Amino acid sequence: MYRIIPFLVGVCVALTPLTALAQGGSPGVPSGGAPGASGSLEEVLIGFEAFPGAAEENLVRALGGEVNQTFWLVPAIAASIPGDAREALERNPHVRYVEDDAEVFALGQTVPWGVDRVFGEEAYSFQTWTTSRGTGIGVAVLDTGIDAGHEDLTVTGGTTTVDDTDWRADVNGHGTHVAGTIAALDNELGVVGVAPDVRLYAVKVLDDTGSGSISSVVAGIQWAADHEDIRVANMSLGTSSNVQTLREACDQAYAEGLLLVASAGNSGNPGGRGNNVGYPARYDSVIAVAASTQNDTRASFSSTGPDVELIAPGVAVLSTLPGDQYGTANGTSMASPHVAGVAALAWAADPGLWNDELRLILQDTAEDLGLDPNHQGYGLARADRAVDAAANAEGGDPAPASVSVATLDATNIDTTSAKLNGELTELTGAEDAEVWFEWRASGATGWNTTDEMTLSGTGGFSYELSGLDSGTEYEFRAAARADGDASDTGNNRTFATGSEDEETPEEPTGLSVDELDLSDNSNPRWTRVSVAWAVSGNNLSEVTSELRKKGDTAVIDSAASSVSGSTAAGDHDLRERDGGGAYEVTVTVIDIDGNSEARTEEIGGL
Ligand code: CA
Repeated sequence: MYRIIPFLVGVCVALTPLTALAQGGSPGVPSGGAPGASGSLEEVLIGFEAFPGAAEENLVRALGGEVNQTFWLVPAIAASIPGDAREALERNPHVRYVEDDAEVFALGQTVPWGVDRVFGEEAYSFQTWTTSRGTGIGVAVLDTGIDAGHEDLTVTGGTTTVDDTDWRADVNGHGTHVAGTIAALDNELGVVGVAPDVRLYAVKVLDDTGSGSISSVVAGIQWAADHEDIRVANMSLGTSSNVQTLREACDQAYAEGLLLVASAGNSGNPGGRGNNVGYPARYDSVIAVAASTQNDTRASFSSTGPDVELIAPGVAVLSTLPGDQYGTANGTSMASPHVAGVAALAWAADPGLWNDELRLILQDTAEDLGLDPNHQGYGLARADRAVDAAANAEGGDPAPASVSVATLDATNIDTTSAKLNGELTELTGAEDAEVWFEWRASGATGWNTTDEMTLSGTGGFSYELSGLDSGTEYEFRAAARADGDASDTGNNRTFATGSEDEETPEEPTGLSVDELDLSDNSNPRWTRVSVAWAVSGNNLSEVTSELRKKGDTAVIDSAASSVSGSTAAGDHDLRERDGGGAYEVTVTVIDIDGNSEARTEEIGGL
């Protein structure tokens, strides 16, 4: 089994020494707040009645403590004292109070350098945040889970694809750290993320040791793709293995509109040579993010290669850790969430952008660090520029509507019908276009038109003409219209219907669609019809299912299965994004000679 690991180099928890960890190791999170090197000593502040001098310092030492600092602004000493010295100090009439030093440390909010860096010249609280704070954009963190109880995070929801685990808990710490870079809250404590108002989703695809399987990651991608408000998926994980199912899952999720951001990997060498970007970052459908340092150089561990698309801070990245803790970590795992946060900010500035449009904005607005393109891609992701570009992408006035019909083919031409297939290849300035076909006998004036079909976006459509005269040549063309005025016709073709006497009488094929059961498997984003079918006949070859709106001829979705022998049964899943209403499904069984038999059933109220 292929293993997926987080692309993390090391974790350091606040107040503890940096812990160097091998890539893929379990970071673990120290649980105590006391410095480990001090044994049983506690860090305290001791307030005195008067400004302390040698006598007060000696008092601390007499109790087994060490004086760390004597203040002149306030009458107090910072000291490390044994636990049992506290009570003795508090009883001393010269001592006003003894309090924990750590409480002072926890006050106030720190802006991590990496977050500050992606906002360019802006200083906290960033001017860009007046345009966008990521509101309404869902970001899924495919990782070890997120500590949903963390004081500096708000987790909207989540799921787990790893058996017997809970996405609300993060034993490992990796996912909580990644989440904080994206979305730590802008408040008075802890740290702050790039996009503090996004909807944060924990998708636990890695177990508590930080390891996972391809199948758990694919299931996580699938879950994210199925949630309408989730626009960005961060994958600070990877493998050196190219696995087809993972690639196809990424490609399909990207085609459905999800923006996939992943860590490039920590397999780089000091010279930055070679192509060692991991998967899924290496896939075309995924943005591969390399790691930069505070000096705008490539982190020596950061993977290199032509698939590196962007670079972002990945060294000494301060973020959230489970148990209301904070700490720094290194890795392209820490770089990727900076880009995910920038993407969410830009998307919130114009939620109407499609994911590939947003991706181009991220590329176009990246800051060229002057590094090798195999090290930095387009450059360092910049929130300020990306938000500005997204907010002004449409310029104010909507672009004029235009449509273009590029291809048109005729199939199944016979004496009585012609099935026409067209494709609408360009549609701007309008959400929907009316499409139809026009035809006439060759040489005739004027066109006959089919019913209009409404097509959202671009894509293929088809129409079947009937009642044509036999032995006649016809011309036909496709037409489309957006927003009333703009229209296009194109790809004029001719075809001739056969003559009556050329028809060969149909022979019985023995083909039959014996069972066709439709069931509603819809979710809020997709109208889904599950098609269970059983067919019979001699020399079966293929079974196809086609989904149409009831009474319409345009095929919305289709599926096909290869079959053989004399009986077969199976299932198809047909769907339409943001659809609904009454549909019909046609199942066609085809034999090896091309004979076919079809059966149509309706399903309504989806
Ligand atoms: Ca905060």
